[in-house]
Amino acid sequence: MEIILAKPIGYCYGVERAMNITYETLKSEKNNIYTLGPIIHNPQVVKKLEKNGIKIIENLENTYVGTLIIRAHGIDPKKLERARKMGFKVIDATCPFVKKNQKRATQLVKEGYFLVVIGEKEHPEILGILANANGPFMVIENKSDYKKLPDVKRVGVITQTTQSMENFISVVSYLLEEYKEIKIFNTICDETIERQKSARNIANEVDLMLVVGGKNSANTKRLAEIGKSINENTYHIETSEEIIKKWLKGVKKVGISGGASTPKWLIDEAIKKIKKISSH
Ligand code: SF4
Repeated sequence: MEIILAKPIGYCYGVERAMNITYETLKSEKNNIYTLGPIIHNPQVVKKLEKNGIKIIENLENTYVGTLIIRAHGIDPKKLERARKMGFKVIDATCPFVKKNQKRATQLVKEGYFLVVIGEKEHPEILGILANANGPFMVIENKSDYKKLPDVKRVGVITQTTQSMENFISVVSYLLEEYKEIKIFNTICDETIERQKSARNIANEVDLMLVVGGKNSANTKRLAEIGKSINENTYHIETSEEIIKKWLKGVKKVGISGGASTPKWLIDEAIKKIKKISSH
């Protein structure tokens, strides 16, 4: 059985950075360490962090004041200010590429463009971008949103860092037909592009494709969608326990891809399980 691993695999730069910051904070602060929402979209990692004492909160109320780690997806600046005023020690683990995206959106609004963000309406990265930009906006998630396009002259476009290139191109092409003055930034992050390319290539050459990562992770779901669109035999799993024997029947080549928030140990466990099944 041949196993082909996607490249890159394991945490992306921004998640690795956020995790390092979190572990450093655990060493230095000990008690009352919070994150607003899960630090990354991977339930297995978040569970481990909780065991180590990190508390996930949905809002700042009813918590002891302590240390607040801002997750890789970023935050609403008003919430940040509030946390500081309440006396929280704030440690910012926002990915620098997400920060760059927030700055671009803010700049577009300042320049008088109507902000269009391509991405998932409720995703924390999008909510953080909109709160930072603080101007008129619209989020385009899918084609049904085309009907609600505003009647404005100047449109400034950015995208969630983990969008698929196909979706970005398709939305932008539509907007180009609708608006005369349009400023576009392709803000999909390089790691996302690389992961999607690799998943596409691998899905083409294997009999079975496994995409490992949180079911709540937007970029992992996208990799699974890409895989499935090329290779029907694609499965999105969170842990090796989900791999079942019959998937491997008659399979010679298995491809494994992982989301930006999937740790390498979950990938290694999947490899181990595949090897174990195929050796019997
Ligand atoms: S996927 Fe890109 S933008 Fe998102 S956290 Fe990772 S490096 Fe940052």
